Amino acid sequence: MDMSTEQIREIVSNQQDAKLRRIGEKTINRERIFFDEAVLLFEKAGLAFTGALANYKRESMHGNKTYFNRNFHIEPTNVCVFSCAFCSYSRIYAHRDEGWELSIDQMMNMVKKYDGKPVTEVHIVGGVHPKMNLYFFVELLQKIKAHRPGLHIKGFTAVELDYMFRKAKLSVEEGMKTLHDAGLDSLPGGGAEIFDAEIRMQICEDKVNADGWLDIHRQAHLLGMHSNATMLYGHIENYSHRVDHMERLRSLQDETGGFNTFIPLKFRNKGNDMSHVAESSVIEDMKTYAVSRLFMDNFPHIKAYWPMLGRQSAQLTLSFGVNDLDGTIDDSTKIYSMAGSEEQHPSLSTAELVALIKQVKREPVERDTLYKEIKNYKDMDLTAMASSPLYN
Ligand code: SF4
Repeated sequence: MDMSTEQIREIVSNQQDAKLRRIGEKTINRERIFFDEAVLLFEKAGLAFTGALANYKRESMHGNKTYFNRNFHIEPTNVCVFSCAFCSYSRIYAHRDEGWELSIDQMMNMVKKYDGKPVTEVHIVGGVHPKMNLYFFVELLQKIKAHRPGLHIKGFTAVELDYMFRKAKLSVEEGMKTLHDAGLDSLPGGGAEIFDAEIRMQICEDKVNADGWLDIHRQAHLLGMHSNATMLYGHIENYSHRVDHMERLRSLQDETGGFNTFIPLKFRNKGNDMSHVAESSVIEDMKTYAVSRLFMDNFPHIKAYWPMLGRQSAQLTLSFGVNDLDGTIDDSTKIYSMAGSEEQHPSLSTAELVALIKQVKREPVERDTLYKEIKNYKDMDLTAMASSPLYN
């Protein structure tokens, strides 16, 4: 915590491996690290070394600040035309009686449940339902905006968008503009998985490919929208695949500057076609966050999604490059609980999330989706917060 330049210089100068030492010097000098250097960090560097560098970089960018937002999710359906091998969540159309399909009225009732509550964002993602088309979602977006204009709508993975646009026979540019005009403010980062074509063939062969995913985000950025990017790690990919994935995102960010946050997502193996693949260790998780922070130098934020990692590991990530813990969630997502995450009903009150961040001596800052600071909780008393309805 609060690592000084003097301390990191000492750690770097004590590094015996000349190439790793060079990576350390580059980090201190704010120089970009290259593909082979990121692979080397994964393969050869100890976690203590990579973690110290990532922590130094995180603190030089954000100090102790750790962001979160107050949000809720809407998952319109888990019925999906695709069958990704790692997915524990979806049901095929023929088995839709085992899943759920929400009507616009049902989703509006979910939005209305938060009337008067200080949430700033609704996050909408789900399966790719063959009958929920672009115009269905245009109506949903318009109704949400009419009801609560100030609520930021972050919605739809590039996988959902690709299907919607193709079905509506619209170009990516036209489709994106249609949704943006209807009220879509930004895009979440899902559906990226691992961009490498061979890995994609094995884990999610029929959905949008890397270029398609990147183009959808490019078009969103060109319209002035922001987006996030994810990487599903810890399954059958190797370190080069991870770095290749990050490099493609870093290049697009050089081009557009539209990404806010990079979110490494840990593969979970319950209830899917890849249950035979072991999950990554906590050490591997921390290494992945740390290398992400070091390599993704043009991404302002690295986020750990606590419902997927569990609370303790999420706290640990704050020493390995992460500066964002997503949101209060309010038990409104099933994506990771169905894949075996420790968090079966993910929900944290603001008071609990603030306490979680303070326990590891970081500074909790509530943000909106675009990282405008709403409130700094550094000096807030946890006991007073725990008993106040404002934060629970
Ligand atoms: S990961 Fe997404 S696209 Fe793939 S099957 Fe699951 S819900 Fe469908």
